[in-house]
Amino acid sequence: MSTLDVASLGRRLESVRERIASSAVNCGRSPDDVTLVVVTKFHGADLVRALADLGVRDVGENRHQEAEAKHLQCSDLDLRWHFIGQLQSNKAAAVRRYADVVHSVDRDSVVAGLERAGLADPGLGTLDCLIQINLTDDPGRGGVQPENLDALATQVMSTTTLRLRGLMAVAPLGENPEPAFEAVAMISENLRRLAPDATWLSMGMSGDFESAISFGATHLRIGTEITGKRPNPV
Ligand SMILES: *Cc1c(COP(=O)(O)O)cnc(C)c1O
Repeated sequence: MSTLDVASLGRRLESVRERIASSAVNCGRSPDDVTLVVVTKFHGADLVRALADLGVRDVGENRHQEAEAKHLQCSDLDLRWHFIGQLQSNKAAAVRRYADVVHSVDRDSVVAGLERAGLADPGLGTLDCLIQINLTDDPGRGGVQPENLDALATQVMSTTTLRLRGLMAVAPLGENPEPAFEAVAMISENLRRLAPDATWLSMGMSGDFESAISFGATHLRIGTEITGKRPNPV
């Protein structure tokens, strides 16, 4: 039996939307400049469907197999699929078949894999890509170290089927996120000298999205605050 409570889902979504709008207005930004990506990982296709009914257009997934299956089950819905998880280059071609945006580009081999898939199937069009910045010293967290950003950005810009739209970052867990958001905003400003169209800033999750908005986030990736606690991964 489904335990999906659509009424409370709707209330939580509305409350997050209101908080996004008031945070944007409070720092002199238009709420229309902030895109809410609802992170649906570990939840079933029924949740994605309920969100679509509530007017959600952007959903985020972090694991390829799960995302691919859910996308197939929801192929009748008008959604943009954001891939936000660590990406292995051998999965890049498969991810490209359903993803509208990849937030987690962080290596040459991933750029090459995505480009190869795009060249092999021109019907896929141009893929919006964000480069993930790693703000820690731990390579296991995913993302490129800031000193290697320009080289990777140049590589994305030299492709014909990928469009560099900006940066993605996850603030370090259990710390004040503001120094991280401020650092990413500065890195973004520098990047735009090289890549003027790379204006997107994907940062801000359930616990820190209001702060992210104040540092210029254009895309928020919000899960639990809207969906409730995630079921355990299967
Ligand atoms: C799961 C996840 C999120 C959403 O996290 P919440 O705290 O549930 O809002 C955002 N970004 C990434 C990369 C994630 O993996």
